[in-house]
Amino acid sequence: MPIKLFNTASRKVETFQPLNKKYVSMYSCGITAYYYTHIGHLYTYTTSDLLRRVLEYAGYDIRHVMNVTDVGHMTSDADEGEDKLIVGAKKENKTPAEIARFYEKCFWEETVKMNILKPNTICRATEHISDMLHLIEQLEKNGYTYKTSVGVIFDTSKFAAYPNFAKLNLAKQEAGARVKIDKERKNPWDFALWVTNQPNHLMQWDSKWGKGFPGWHIECSAMSMRYLGETLDIHTGGIDHIPVHHTNEIAQSECATGKKFVNYWTHTAFLNVNNTKMSKSLGNLYTLQDLAGKDFVPLALRYFFLGTSYRKPINFTWEALNAAQTALVKLWKHCLELPAPACEVLAPYIKNFEEAIYDDLNMAKALAVVWKLLESKEDASKKAATLFHMDKVFGLDLANARTQLSNLENLKKENLISKDKKYLEKEFKALKLIEHRYLLKQQKKYQEADAIRDQIKKLGFSIEDSKDGTILKPI
Ligand code: AMP
Ligand code: ZN
Repeated sequence: MPIKLFNTASRKVETFQPLNKKYVSMYSCGITAYYYTHIGHLYTYTTSDLLRRVLEYAGYDIRHVMNVTDVGHMTSDADEGEDKLIVGAKKENKTPAEIARFYEKCFWEETVKMNILKPNTICRATEHISDMLHLIEQLEKNGYTYKTSVGVIFDTSKFAAYPNFAKLNLAKQEAGARVKIDKERKNPWDFALWVTNQPNHLMQWDSKWGKGFPGWHIECSAMSMRYLGETLDIHTGGIDHIPVHHTNEIAQSECATGKKFVNYWTHTAFLNVNNTKMSKSLGNLYTLQDLAGKDFVPLALRYFFLGTSYRKPINFTWEALNAAQTALVKLWKHCLELPAPACEVLAPYIKNFEEAIYDDLNMAKALAVVWKLLESKEDASKKAATLFHMDKVFGLDLANARTQLSNLENLKKENLISKDKKYLEKEFKALKLIEHRYLLKQQKKYQEADAIRDQIKKLGFSIEDSKDGTILKPI
């Protein structure tokens, strides 16, 4: 059965045809390792994991490469602002390398919890500087660069296809959208390949253009080509990368090699929270840790992602996550009741399942097949075999349903204990404050004594004075 994939490059659903018969090359833009991984990141990486699993299920051998950006990603996706790694390092009073290794480790831990398969190759930008310099040299040789006082710049006007991928409108853009960052740049879209003359930047390497550091975009071009060759089968990322990062990756790679860079581009839409953008400043940026605090296991989030199309923005709400976890628990409980799997799977269900997953990863439709199967009167051991077979793609750990259910129960218990502990700590603080208030009143410091009432309120208690003493009540 052919695999259909939506290709951002053509904006069409296409039949997947790998370049090489032996393996599929797949590159995923990794995180910029300067802060914790949030559930929006996990939406994008779950999508690439599902794609990889579908291809593996179909019998392809996958070479999956993912980078870690640990230098060069400015606070804007274009060249403006400060390097995110340096911002993180300053904030936490650590070196950029310490920041990168710490958040990188956090990221891999989160992916394991989400049952996201580890890429075959993981590459850090700081460990591939010579590959980047080599590529920039090639671009220079081919006549696509010019120098300014702040580095080596890619001349987008030399690459006629530049606006095509993101359907950029040059006329509109000129009117103001992506403005010229400095006066020396020839075109508003031009971007830095190598940044020099930044004495305060903490990460610098020698180069023929002077001491400096790479632009973010050249990292992915250099590392993907290093491990997967000049033309890749698949490149993945989130939709925010289409207009700048991936557009620039295409320009650099194709101008350096003269070959097509990527055959299939897949982009995951954004995860929003209550229909608004998830951001730290709005206080709605959630991590798996936040979910755990509310009794949700990571695979509930995975199940939630399976219920939608990766091309549609997903709206995260606690109610929706709760519905996902309820369904997953039901599924795990069903699995507990099933006998050992038979050797044979139920072909009609597998057929429907494959039709769904090969249809541009229609996971919601594939999950519907699971529920239909569970409701059916088919032989239980064949049901088990069929379910476990499908779970190679879903990644819901159905074979370990008992462990998963007990993990969930343990999480709930731990949360209850920690809630009790927190309550007791607050109660203890409030009782101490009552003692202090009593002393203040004896010293006739009534104003200060009144202020303590407010402090107690902040801890979640009210107080009532009676002839027998002060009574503490939870609000
Ligand atoms: P970054 O570390 O910012 O480069 O992001 C890593 C990946 O996560 C990129 O592919 C982004 O497109 C993706 N991403 C970031 N925020 C979200 C979000 N809210 N929803 C979906 N994907 C996201
Ligand atoms: Zn990238």
